[in-house]
Amino acid sequence: MPTYVRTEKCDGCKGQDKTACMYICPHDLMRLDKDGSKTGHAMKAYNQEPEQCWECYSCVKICPQQAIECRHYADVVPMGASVQPLRGTESIMWTIKFRNGNVKRFKFPIRTTPEGSADPYGDKPEAEISKITDHSILFTNATHSCDMSQFTAS
Ligand code: SF4
Ligand code: SF4
Repeated sequence: MPTYVRTEKCDGCKGQDKTACMYICPHDLMRLDKDGSKTGHAMKAYNQEPEQCWECYSCVKICPQQAIECRHYADVVPMGASVQPLRGTESIMWTIKFRNGNVKRFKFPIRTTPEGSADPYGDKPEAEISKITDHSILFTNATHSCDMSQFTAS
């Protein structure tokens, strides 16, 4: 189920040009309704195309006000339950509220290195775009050999 915004919690990221949910959404779905003309709720965010939502939870995790919710699938939690994450710098706390009122919390570490220190390339060289069609330099080539010419239009 797509995300929806709890307007009573959303503070519009204090009127920044780009809110946290707009920044993080990989599908560019979140918008801030500055004057309330779209939703009737000024300075509140909304999902402009719920049917396009990937339910990736990125906006749910990044929202500093915990204002975004996403109804989870019934095979993760029973119907009527809510699943809300709270991110810290080193851990994430998931709060599950069941429809009978029971609450469970699960805390997981999310990193082993200081924030901002991740090296996306590791010991691998950065990609050279000019060599994008040279399949002999693919990282996977050492273990897999594949004749890519069969996939190339002649
Ligand atoms: S990140 Fe949260 S508080 Fe900020 S605009 Fe989006 S829903 Fe509102
Ligand atoms: S769950 Fe993912 S795809 Fe859906 S609005 Fe949030 S960030 Fe975008």
